[in-house]
Amino acid sequence: MNGGLAHACGVFGVYAPNQPVAQLTYLGLYALQHRGQESAGIAVSDGQNVTVVKDMGLVTQVFDERSLAPLEGHLGIGHTRYSTTGSSSWRNAQPIYRSVGETGFALGHNGNLTNTAELAGTLGMLPGLTADETSFDSTTDSALVAELIAREWPDEPRSDGRELEHALEKVLPRLKGGFSFVLMDDARLIGVRDPHGFWPLALGRLEGGGWVLASETAALDIVGAHYVRDVQPGEMVVIDAAGLRREHRFAEPDPKLCLFEFIYFARPDTNLYGQSVHAARQRMGEELARQAPVDADMVMPIPESGIPAGQGYARSSGIPYGDGLVKNRYVGRTFIQPNQKIRGQSVRMKLNPLPENIRGKRLVVVDDSIVRGTTTRQVVAMLREAGATEIHFRVSSPPYKWPCYYGMDTGRKSELLAADLEVGEIRDYLGVDSLAYLELERLTKATGSSEESFCTACLSGNYPVPVPLEDTKHVLEIDVSNARLTDTDSAPRFPGVSPSAPA
Ligand code: SF4
Repeated sequence: MNGGLAHACGVFGVYAPNQPVAQLTYLGLYALQHRGQESAGIAVSDGQNVTVVKDMGLVTQVFDERSLAPLEGHLGIGHTRYSTTGSSSWRNAQPIYRSVGETGFALGHNGNLTNTAELAGTLGMLPGLTADETSFDSTTDSALVAELIAREWPDEPRSDGRELEHALEKVLPRLKGGFSFVLMDDARLIGVRDPHGFWPLALGRLEGGGWVLASETAALDIVGAHYVRDVQPGEMVVIDAAGLRREHRFAEPDPKLCLFEFIYFARPDTNLYGQSVHAARQRMGEELARQAPVDADMVMPIPESGIPAGQGYARSSGIPYGDGLVKNRYVGRTFIQPNQKIRGQSVRMKLNPLPENIRGKRLVVVDDSIVRGTTTRQVVAMLREAGATEIHFRVSSPPYKWPCYYGMDTGRKSELLAADLEVGEIRDYLGVDSLAYLELERLTKATGSSEESFCTACLSGNYPVPVPLEDTKHVLEIDVSNARLTDTDSAPRFPGVSPSAPA
């Protein structure tokens, strides 16, 4: 359970003549629901017209048989959104449709750009203007990209109809930050990944013909597609009537996949870097047991995100594994409510202790991460009330100290529990008997890939792409000598704890 991390988006695309494209996209989005719960949308082309249906809410709230019925065509894209830039409102829902002359295109974006202000400047806009003050019908960086594409659209129609590809070739090298895009016009499906490949984008082949793009391989499984390969960092792939027609590299790849995809974001049944996410999370738990052993009676996870690491810890330590908390299966992840007060209340709706399993026991409690710590603190209090005699908290990732600027919403640096607190201070704040975080080296070892192949910025402060000097959400000072950031925000911190001086 993680009360502080919210992903930006899930994206999905399909090119499949003679197949129910809208229904396939719906199923793909349903599989990617965990990546964004604020809005959902689908765009479909029948070769003549692009039709978009989108609204606020979960995939199942936005779509039903009636709303899917008019979405007929041979290619489509879909999007689930959690806002990182721009407010949570209908006009920021995606896919974004942008008309250009007699034609148009649709775009879905997973990620967050870091040079939005610079790009806005090239369009003659002042950064920070609201949508009402500009020509945009949206406040997101994704709308800015759509505007850039529209402005690079060839003046004269091309005989091959490939205006979108050519506009993208001009725009993509100018974008910085995290972006996995799915785009379409009336005849083509396009997938794009930024040069670092912060966010995954997998390419699959449908049985019976057709192609699929999806944020996670699990979404391929659910629509009956088999995995072909990842869209490579710095690559644009184009799919049309000729099949996978074009694999175009627009930048040198420097892979830095978000390490939190392995830790928390991705579904356990997804594969990343050729590895099962579930198996990697179990190995993280095994590493944690080797690094931070403790004498205890039961290992229990915080459901559901802590389950694989808890299993790994138990397997490696030999301490019996058991359930201490039951998760209400019918409550959404707590981060869907944007305000802290509501988020706090929802923890008790979501988890209920099993006193008969806990009473009189020394517990090892395993979770994948602690971000704000408010959720964890409440869970610890519930376990104490239920009769636990000792609580040894084990976290299968290092302390989360730095905000993400590439597409994941953690809020302000001042909301991150580990930003200024030492492990001992966090232990006291949470009210546990001992606390240990998995070392970064052991974590990356568990993934099966090298540390260099990941973005670890929120854990290490080493940002692969420089972040803005002035940000509307975070006021930052950059220490160029080690590329670390200092957030000068001074919002209220954690009650009962005296923060140590910032590093
Ligand atoms: S800063 Fe953290 S959450 Fe953001 S991309 Fe990097 S590893 Fe992922």
